Amino acid sequence: MVRDTKSRQRRGQSPSESIIIPTLPDERRKQLQTHVIRLLNCNRCSKNDLGSRPQGPVVSGGPVFSEVMLVGQAPGQKEPLLGRPFAWTAGKTLFGWFHRTCGLSEQAFRSRIYMAAVCRCFPGKKPSGGDRVPSEIEIENCSLWLKREIKILQPKLVIPVGKLAISQFLECKRLDDIIGKKFPGTLAGHSFDLIPLPHPSGASPWHRMEPGKSLLDNALRLISKHPAMRAFPPS
Ligand code: SF4
Repeated sequence: MVRDTKSRQRRGQSPSESIIIPTLPDERRKQLQTHVIRLLNCNRCSKNDLGSRPQGPVVSGGPVFSEVMLVGQAPGQKEPLLGRPFAWTAGKTLFGWFHRTCGLSEQAFRSRIYMAAVCRCFPGKKPSGGDRVPSEIEIENCSLWLKREIKILQPKLVIPVGKLAISQFLECKRLDDIIGKKFPGTLAGHSFDLIPLPHPSGASPWHRMEPGKSLLDNALRLISKHPAMRAFPPS
């Protein structure tokens, strides 16, 4: 089930809302640069009466014009300080996966794949410890950026990482049913292949134990063979 279609129906919106899709790649490159500058200055959530606000600054992977988009969940505490997504321990694991299966170094990955997220600001800590999950309002606010990115980039492959990111595109009750498969995805009126990955954080052992380990390998193999990934030379 594609969530975008359902949420649009709830709000009575059409897939073509909000921005004009430029057709030429040069126009889209310019639009992406403008988009990222606007994103980096976003304070949309601070204008809402949220019980717990996400904490800026906004974290972005930069205006990388790519047919492959990775969608993370939300930055942790370190990413806003270091100024890039997946900058800490979970990133080391994630980039290790891509280096092992696709031959892409972290630097090559960051320069060739657009890095988006469900929520671009650190949501803060829960009173009980651990990172707070972004609220529905924050997710809705930030989905505007994701939809624009899909419209501008028109990706052929989208890789959502972790249950929160996957559930923006598909029902995700159990990772066992989702990881290791390719799905048709649709968002903002654009269709693409969707190959989900588990979150690489050390908080969950799912990807280090069977069947998660084998399902993760299957997913990475599917990604490495995807035509949009094979357009990249090894690095
Ligand atoms: S979470 Fe997203 S919508 Fe909210 S302030 Fe940060 S960038 Fe803007």
